[in-house]
Amino acid sequence: MLKMYYLLSIFSVLAMLFFSCGPTCEPGQVLLKEKNECVVDTCINFHCGTGASCVVTTNGPKCECPSPFQSLDANGNCYYGGLDEVTCSSKGTVKVSSSGKPYCDCDSGYKQLADGVYSCVPSTLSSFCNGGTCSNGKVIPYFENKPNHGVNFFITGDGYTESDLSYNGKFAKDATKFIGYLMKREPYKKFAKYVNFYIVFAKSKQHGVDLSCSSDTVNSVFNTCFDNPGRSTIVRIKSSGRNTLNSFIRRSGKSAHLKIVILNEDRYHAGTAFPSYDLAIFPRKAGLNSEIVTDITLYHEVGHAFGKLGDEYGASGSSFGNPPALSRADRYPNLSLTNNLNIIKWKSLIPDYNVGAVEGGYYRDYNVWRPQNKCVMRSFDTTEMCPVCKEVLVKRFYSILGLRYSIDDFKKEFPPGATRNSFQTEYNTLSPIEKAQLREIDLKFHNHKHVISREELENIEY
Ligand SMILES: [Zn+2]
Ligand SMILES: [Zn+2]
Repeated sequence: MLKMYYLLSIFSVLAMLFFSCGPTCEPGQVLLKEKNECVVDTCINFHCGTGASCVVTTNGPKCECPSPFQSLDANGNCYYGGLDEVTCSSKGTVKVSSSGKPYCDCDSGYKQLADGVYSCVPSTLSSFCNGGTCSNGKVIPYFENKPNHGVNFFITGDGYTESDLSYNGKFAKDATKFIGYLMKREPYKKFAKYVNFYIVFAKSKQHGVDLSCSSDTVNSVFNTCFDNPGRSTIVRIKSSGRNTLNSFIRRSGKSAHLKIVILNEDRYHAGTAFPSYDLAIFPRKAGLNSEIVTDITLYHEVGHAFGKLGDEYGASGSSFGNPPALSRADRYPNLSLTNNLNIIKWKSLIPDYNVGAVEGGYYRDYNVWRPQNKCVMRSFDTTEMCPVCKEVLVKRFYSILGLRYSIDDFKKEFPPGATRNSFQTEYNTLSPIEKAQLREIDLKFHNHKHVISREELENIEY
């Protein structure tokens, strides 16, 4: 009996080996897995995009992406790699829908932040604020994808009083909305798995902020002010306010790689960035009444604050007296003082991406070059960053995370063809009213320099 058992076992092992290896195919043929037979290799002259591989099927050749967490875009390129590392903020699990699209199956009380953003966030903030009003300086983790080694974003508000600070109040709604706007844009969306987002509840004694920096009329926690009411797009934060903000952040025990302050003031629009402080400040309706404008303005300003990007717009329509010295343009990774493509800062992207040297930028029409005609860092006739600006932001992620950057990583995440073709697609879907509002805010931007360096801020310290 025992002998019989051994013989059967040996036979089944041999059978498994035979069937799993399959037949050996002739040159020019491949094994068709579904049928376990050799067929002509139809992939030989078939082209698949970046990251995709060709598979022979009974219906002919087909492009496939290597893992269930990668998908083919319209151009045949695979996008979104490495999702296997995604934890859905430890508040859920990554699953794949029947259509092959990954999503977070979040724990009860949590929801996925946005389509394609694999973070579970609290459905309400009540558990963090004892079901009531959050205390002044309270820092709550909205989502933590890499709690110990991640990229830490902080968002807070100025001019929000106690009544605005309930767990589902005005401030919580504004902050979570802004987080959603930012995280659904690239490259933040692709890097969401490395991001931790913290909300800082900060209580002001009075609503709103100072409408002029020369008088302190509104008692707000971070002491922000509009430069002057006529030039409403420029915001300042006094050193006392910066210190208060930093002390709140310190309490969390985390270092901040980006700080966003929302102003509880509806009258004025746009925003201001302070790259040396990783800081961007916005009125809560940064874009009139159009959400897309607030969304795009945030994208632009965070480009300054997080990526240290410069303004790519020229002088046309500019009404600020003296633009900063031309030589300073060189400190920005997306601006160049030469149009020599052999030595230009972004020369490594030129072979694959549709970038070169387009004249105009840094508040001038001549002698400064930018990578591409259109970019959110130039004007709002697009809702996309150019590849150079995107790469700068990607590098910032890599440097904070201590990862060695290679251009191949960038090409994998943002395949050249896909970047070129998807450019402008979102903008084209906007309504004429939204486009007009984007144009309006664009003109305001062009009228003011709203990115303030450390030296400039110190020169005008109040
Ligand atoms: Zn700007
Ligand atoms: Zn750009």
